Amino acid sequence: MAKQTNLNCSFCGRTREEVKILIAGQDGHICENCVEHAQEIIGQELNSKNDIAASGSSNFKLNIRKPKEIKQFLDEYIIGQDDAKKVLSVAVYNHYKRVNNKQIVDDVEIEKSNIVMIGETGTGKTLLAKSVARLLNVPFAIVDATVFTEAGYVGEDVESMLTRLLQNCNYDVPSAERGIVYVDEIDKIARKGDNPSITRDVSGEGVQQGLLKMLEGTEVLVPPQGGRKHPEQKMIKVDTKNILFICGGAFDGIDKVIARRVNTNAIGFSINKDEQEYQRKNILQFINAQDLKSFGLIPELLGRLPVITHLDPLDADTLRSILTVPKNSLMKQYIRLFELEGIKLEVEEDVLDFMVTKALEYKLGARGLRSICESILTDAMFELPGSNTAKLRVTLDYAIKMFGKSKLSALKVA
Ligand code: ADP
Repeated sequence: MAKQTNLNCSFCGRTREEVKILIAGQDGHICENCVEHAQEIIGQELNSKNDIAASGSSNFKLNIRKPKEIKQFLDEYIIGQDDAKKVLSVAVYNHYKRVNNKQIVDDVEIEKSNIVMIGETGTGKTLLAKSVARLLNVPFAIVDATVFTEAGYVGEDVESMLTRLLQNCNYDVPSAERGIVYVDEIDKIARKGDNPSITRDVSGEGVQQGLLKMLEGTEVLVPPQGGRKHPEQKMIKVDTKNILFICGGAFDGIDKVIARRVNTNAIGFSINKDEQEYQRKNILQFINAQDLKSFGLIPELLGRLPVITHLDPLDADTLRSILTVPKNSLMKQYIRLFELEGIKLEVEEDVLDFMVTKALEYKLGARGLRSICESILTDAMFELPGSNTAKLRVTLDYAIKMFGKSKLSALKVA
């Protein structure tokens, strides 16, 4: 016991009385201050090692997944969209293989394979990009192309899209330099008209020009807080050559452009209505760079987006599966939410069909499924916590009643 009173930290020498915690080892002790200090040193050491590795040393290896593994992972979270999943898996695999193998053998330099995904809104484009980034554990940012304008005009500089990437990885530049940026609504920066403009097109072609260099790979000065660059701001230098850009857009009306090219009559009279509808809905599968050019993307930009893929519109079966099948499907999430209150939630099959019908009727797509679920379950989620109820079974009558009471049902069917 006498020994105990003389205890002190073997690192800083502070006595037992001077510290809050003293941890015993085999031949010594360490206090909480020294543990914290040691942790800081370890953090700094590891960071600087990562920096060296990421800035070109061959020690730097990403955990690349094979295309089949990537697709398998995507299958767990995204229903259908097989073409897009396959194309994305291969492009992402090739991209990171290129990042990991920098030497040029026999003059063969692997070029970057940025991707463009075309599909109606709410068909899973963002979800695909986000899921890939999650699997590979690389920094990820979603940016909206519509906020950018050509440098010098009101709006954001294109460089500020990298701000979000930096923010999402705590300004860890080497990590950001191998991240993924999803550029949404790329179709909204299409050139107005197929001819080069006579007046300045600052939010269309101007932005496309700005994007060009970033997509190809260049050193960019990024404003740490985003927005517009101004001289007194300290910039962060980011090299974009290993950042994968995935662009997405609905490209409304592009079906007509494709139809014209493939010589299919999108609004013809020669085929029956069902077939017409089928062709119209599935014509995106024939999309190529030529169509995107006709839509107003400049050829130079298209040159930097060599991988083009499409997403299918969501039909009733797909919407139905989205409700229950994915690993974190909406239904699984609600069941878990109620479970946390000690309530067993059961939703009858025809309620699921009802939700799908409403999503289609109100043209809300997959995104709308969530608001429909909310409209049906909000009352229960308000009333039941703390009420000793052990089970909630949602019947069709209950669902119709609750949906009828909601603001959603007041929406006009387009
Ligand atoms: P987009 O980017 O094409 O507009 P999102 O990826 O943002 O669409 O999709 C919106 C939401 O709809 C997703 O968060 C997801 O919950 C759901 N969703 C859409 N498509 C699918 C799909 N194919 N499989 C599973 N969920 C989907």
